[in-house]
Amino acid sequence: MSSTQTTVQLGHRFADALPELSVPWQADEAPDPRLLALDEGVAAGLGLDPAWLRSPSGLAFLTGTQVPDGARPVAQGYAGHQFGNYSPRLGDGRALLLGDLAGLDLHLKGSGRTPWSRGGDGLAVVGPMLREFVVSTAMHALGIPTTRSLAVVATGRTVQRETPQPGAVLARTASSHLRVGSFQLVRATEDVDLLRRLADHAIAAHVPAAADADNPALALYEHVVAVQADLLARWMLVGFVHGVMNTDNMTISGETIDYGPCAFLDAHDADTVFSSIDSGGRYRYGNQPLAAQWNLARLAEALLPLIHEDPEQAIPTAVAVLETFLPRYEVAWAAGMRAKLGLREDADPALVTDLQALLDANHPDHTGFFRALGAAARGDAEPARRLVLDLAGFDAWAARWLAAGPDADAMDRVNPVYVPRNHLVEEALDAATAGDLGPVERLVEVLRRPFDERPDLARYAEPGPAGTYVTYCGT
Ligand code: AMP
Ligand code: MG
Repeated sequence: MSSTQTTVQLGHRFADALPELSVPWQADEAPDPRLLALDEGVAAGLGLDPAWLRSPSGLAFLTGTQVPDGARPVAQGYAGHQFGNYSPRLGDGRALLLGDLAGLDLHLKGSGRTPWSRGGDGLAVVGPMLREFVVSTAMHALGIPTTRSLAVVATGRTVQRETPQPGAVLARTASSHLRVGSFQLVRATEDVDLLRRLADHAIAAHVPAAADADNPALALYEHVVAVQADLLARWMLVGFVHGVMNTDNMTISGETIDYGPCAFLDAHDADTVFSSIDSGGRYRYGNQPLAAQWNLARLAEALLPLIHEDPEQAIPTAVAVLETFLPRYEVAWAAGMRAKLGLREDADPALVTDLQALLDANHPDHTGFFRALGAAARGDAEPARRLVLDLAGFDAWAARWLAAGPDADAMDRVNPVYVPRNHLVEEALDAATAGDLGPVERLVEVLRRPFDERPDLARYAEPGPAGTYVTYCGT
């Protein structure tokens, strides 16, 4: 290693605590590694020197081809329901957990085949890995819990997709990579001792206070229900569509994970589906809270033997907690809507529900409309009015809302000007795939300050061309 970074001491808390759930593994060679993106803030949080990460030994670290002394990378196993169908054997088919650093899991995506690759090539390509970098960076800047992207490195390898594509590895961090599917995998083994160790590990990582609860597994479950209710509310408020909410893509931590065919709403429409593989619309925008609840029911099933040894008692106990999910979600969403509308807590709740009805009927640009309401709160309703068809309905609502005295400055702190709009992301990724990183770099810089309107960046705030946007799974 270079003189700037003499030691990287990776821990192995997951592999050590739960050796049954992973296999020691190593990354494929990267013939000609080239850094495409680096988040220096994430690097600093890990105690990693950006100058070293840019050096040849740093790139070898970021692609997993040269691991620090004592590091023991593993591929993790998990199960999961994919679009409602149970797959008993998923796992890191193209990923590696390098270890943990500064309390965070450091994970690589696109690092080669593993025992869980099934028919896949274990690889990833530049476009989708930069998409995860761009969108996860935006989500963090928006204040939404998420895994973070440390870096994207092109490997110099050509990967066969529909057309040949440049290969890449993403390095990301998470507070853990435990998923609903991790519990499903262990539950299926009927090894209650292993299940307890997994729950204890999750508790230590995410909700230490639960260790002292009367029923730690139930306290863990309550925690996951609570953090997911909060996360789903944040997604819905900002107009984020995850696209592939399978149980293996839902964390125990409450962090957004696995940015595949995800996208932000242009026009507000509950039926929006971006993913090419979601033909039934299971994970459409308006269905996300119910999809999350469904996943949490699967988590409850996996935890039942820990909640009570008698299923007759375990089931109603878990169901009672599951039933708190939607009410919790509604409370978090309504509070978020009040904030977006600059309203105090005691404001008439109908202001929120009536606006939601207006959005559902008028399909305005989601991000643009809420930001324009800030101008309306300052006396200029035209930017918002321009986005709706039902002017009489809007005016009637706006009169009631303005009478409640919305706080425009507070609104501007929660309604972003800039989100990763689909046409901007596509344009930037196409340029990067063709070798020009400029558009991705500029887009990331814009998205790092989503609430801070900059007049020279007007094009980043504009809606894309009308039409149906489709994303393809991040392969
Ligand atoms: P996802 O829904 O994208 O998170 O991935 C679902 C499963 O497919 C996970 O187990 C991945 O590791 C696996 N997978 C996705 N792409 C590939 C690939 N190119 N090669 C091997 N496994 C993959
Ligand atoms: Mg996944």
